[in-house]
Amino acid sequence: MKIRNGFVSNSSSSSFVIVGAVFEETIENCKNICEKYLGEVRDITPYSEYICCDKIIKDNFCSKCGKKKDDINPTINWIDLFNDFKYDLIGIDVINDDGEIIIGKRLGIDLEGDCVPVDKLIKELTETKNMVEELGLKAEFHCGITY
Ligand SMILES: [Zn+2]
Repeated sequence: MKIRNGFVSNSSSSSFVIVGAVFEETIENCKNICEKYLGEVRDITPYSEYICCDKIIKDNFCSKCGKKKDDINPTINWIDLFNDFKYDLIGIDVINDDGEIIIGKRLGIDLEGDCVPVDKLIKELTETKNMVEELGLKAEFHCGITY
């Protein structure tokens, strides 16, 4: 997390408060998130891979066993798909905090000066906590500044 010392007049920076968890980019995790939050109108053809004999087929057949590409079910490269669309997901927020991907739900709080009724905050925290836990992640409170 970045900590800001003193006043810096940099308009490109913005604070964030997110209830979420550090996201590990495994195939399984990326698949989960994409299936849930990517939405339906996506052309995933460019992310289709044809794998045979532990290798991605680049031609129309497997160079090792000769199996035709048409006879192989494509698998989706979920990690690439996640990385290309992680900031366009619907209903979930993704923040890159110094190279660490945090996934969850952003709260509408400005760290540079804000006043939020506690009741509203607790309600929002509870809702986001539940949402994050439904993803099988442990909900944490993350805040900081992104530049
Ligand atoms: Zn093969």
